[in-house]
Amino acid sequence: MRKPLVAGNWKMHGSRAFIETYVAALRDASRAVTVDLLLFPPLCYLQELVGRVAGLGIEVGAQNVHWQESGAFTGEVAPGMVREIGAGWTLAGHSERRAGCGETDQLVAEKCAAALDAGLHPIVCLGENLAERDAGSAEAVVLRQFDAVLARLGPVGMAQLCIAYEPVWAIGTGRTATPEQAQAMHGILRERLARTLGADAASVRILYGGSVTPENAAELFAQKDIDGALVGGASLAADRLLKIVAAAAGRAVLR
Ligand code: PEP
Repeated sequence: MRKPLVAGNWKMHGSRAFIETYVAALRDASRAVTVDLLLFPPLCYLQELVGRVAGLGIEVGAQNVHWQESGAFTGEVAPGMVREIGAGWTLAGHSERRAGCGETDQLVAEKCAAALDAGLHPIVCLGENLAERDAGSAEAVVLRQFDAVLARLGPVGMAQLCIAYEPVWAIGTGRTATPEQAQAMHGILRERLARTLGADAASVRILYGGSVTPENAAELFAQKDIDGALVGGASLAADRLLKIVAAAAGRAVLR
């Protein structure tokens, strides 16, 4: 079955001192090996974090990459560069980039393709905003975002992705989707995966993201189609992230 994954997105937070303290806390804590743990630091700390977590069984990724291998793209970083320094993952299409940097569904799909070509594992973020949910179009929006990636990658490429369902209204707001709301969308995505990928769909993990905390993680992970979490705010404290990992380990035992 799918191994749970807990991923911490530090966004634009952290410093070298923060990383030193954080990694020391992770090293000293006992942690379930039945859960994959992944960290997304700001890009300038990527190499340092890769070095510091070496041997700890923790993976590291970029919060964003460009869709080209190289070129005149001032301020951007190519997926191959991220791979070369030892990071294995990237986020693609986080809502803060869709909304704040004008990333379209097609651009996000290009980034997923470029990441796969470079040997990175992309986590593609999908989610509706509050107006879309209130208008009853949450499912249509999320499936439109999904289909854009599928159209670019095809079923074989899609099977190599990890998906994060992140309702925009729940990100950084303290307003988590209820377990039922989250499961409903995860179930829709799982069904779409099964219909388009066939047997390969079974290995694709679907994470939930949006104000996940140690307090609400267990009930989210108890849902049958929630395979882990993409965690923003709560990942900035190592002890809180570890509690979310422990909750995910409880899920692994149940299955
Ligand atoms: C995120 O940044 O992807 C996220 C889910 O943030 P938060 O946990 O703070 O809502």
